[in-house]
Amino acid sequence: MTGLVIVGHGTRSAAGVDQFAALVERVRRRGDVGDVEGGFIELSRPPLTDAVGALVARGHQALVALPLVLTAAGHGKGDIPAAMFREQQRHPGLSYRYGRPLGPHPLLHDALEQRIDAVLAGADPAGAADRADTWVALIGRGSTDPDANAEVAKVARLLWEGRGYAGVEPGFISLAQPSVPAVLERLRRLGARRIVVSPYFLFAGVLPDRIVAQSAEFAAAHPDLDVRVAGVIGDCDALADLVLERHVEALGGDIRMNCDTCAYRVLMPGFADKVGRPQRPHDHPDDPVGHHHHHHGHDHHDHGSVAVVGGGPGPDDLITVRGKALLDAADVVVVDRLAPQGLLAGLRPDVLVVDAAKVPRGPSMAQEAINAALVSHARAGRRVVRLKGGDPYVFGRGHEEVQACVAAGVPVTVVPGVSSAFAAPALAGVPVTHRGVAHDVTVVSGHLPPGHPDSLVDWAALARTRGTVVLLMAVDTIAKIATVLIEHGRAPETPVLAVQDAGQPDQRSVPARLDEIGAVAARADIRPPAVFVLGPVVALTTTGPTD
Ligand code: SAH
Repeated sequence: MTGLVIVGHGTRSAAGVDQFAALVERVRRRGDVGDVEGGFIELSRPPLTDAVGALVARGHQALVALPLVLTAAGHGKGDIPAAMFREQQRHPGLSYRYGRPLGPHPLLHDALEQRIDAVLAGADPAGAADRADTWVALIGRGSTDPDANAEVAKVARLLWEGRGYAGVEPGFISLAQPSVPAVLERLRRLGARRIVVSPYFLFAGVLPDRIVAQSAEFAAAHPDLDVRVAGVIGDCDALADLVLERHVEALGGDIRMNCDTCAYRVLMPGFADKVGRPQRPHDHPDDPVGHHHHHHGHDHHDHGSVAVVGGGPGPDDLITVRGKALLDAADVVVVDRLAPQGLLAGLRPDVLVVDAAKVPRGPSMAQEAINAALVSHARAGRRVVRLKGGDPYVFGRGHEEVQACVAAGVPVTVVPGVSSAFAAPALAGVPVTHRGVAHDVTVVSGHLPPGHPDSLVDWAALARTRGTVVLLMAVDTIAKIATVLIEHGRAPETPVLAVQDAGQPDQRSVPARLDEIGAVAARADIRPPAVFVLGPVVALTTTGPTD
């Protein structure tokens, strides 16, 4: 005899938990399945481990686990199987067959139709609210899994077919576009006068509440429109029928998953990071293992992380392949002014872009505010990319951000980048080393002038080197630096090249002798971002100065 465990995600809504429990009870009362339990992987009681434990205690070694989800997104594809794997480790010999997600299914479409009819009739007991004049905004949960979002679009289409609504448009309450206001605006522009917002949700919860709130807000701003919100599918016989149908399928091994468009199997544009990604179980607060760093203040349950990515010197195609893949998969991108801005245009529309230069609070607080933003977005379960110019560890404060993540217990990785220290000279035709010409290259920050009490640079020692020196952040200090280098022995005629806006269309370079570079750069109005490269290699410049 098999037992059935119905697995829910969990919600902060008490009404949602009650509806789940009522459905489990309804399925149990049907008597078609020998033994039924329900449990959650997160947030709500009872935890999955209790439900499985109860079935095992009653002698079940072979279960059917049915994910009570409408679409196959991360919870159904990854989190629930991972949680079941943990149960198998707890109960040696336990096996289970996994059911497929509930939708799309005609029973669900019929249920949605009934909820829409109910809200149409509600305001007009004569039932005169005409479907032909009614547009439906079908609002799904939204996912970072494109296949799950496509399923909602499919349900919208199926709900429209043959039912006589003016139209049914899909939208999403989180993580995907179009948003609720965006889809309502789309319908308004199509000429809609009456819109029913239909939440494609099983039970009450934080997200369905948010759909109601956003719909009300839109309605308030458009008093000429008739906007109504239908109920969620809820505990009902149709849902119990569908659960039992999925149970029979699972027992028979007839699981028709939609694998051809699964981001975990197939490389889809923008989702390269998902292919083959290992799945980890969520930690339920009432599950004994669920007490290591895990934060529940989020509505999206991929585990958050931060990648500190070097974006290269500016052009879109001088980022690393790894950096680009992480960027394509990011939910949030915190970007610097000198990072490759062109890459932002290629992000998915739902990606939150935070301009680090505009992070509020004073300049001295800016770095702390950036660190706090990285940590809080990651804790909210988002994949954060901190996109920096050049290499993150070359005068980029990248390590401060890594340290902040480590201190907060947030997973963090670093992706090196092409530093402007080497790229700017190269793009201007200067090799920073060359056989027989320079055997050393020193990269120095000029943000503090020689003699400044906080300066950590041994300028006299630098003057004694014979090879290449690359100065960053030295536009304001180059004259003083040149003077000190000459004072300590560097030849006045040493060639220097100032390279401004390397890699950009307006890149320019200005040559001068070391003893003249301060005056020449000022006259030429060299502005940041610029590097100064000096030493015998500058005489080898191939493409020739452009200015
Ligand atoms: N982490 C960065 C450097 C940050 S410090 C890197 O590895 O490139 C900022 C300095 O970098 C600027 O003041 C300038 O000296 C240099 N810089 C960055 N981008 C540049 C560019 N496109 N052209 C010239 N210099 C650049």
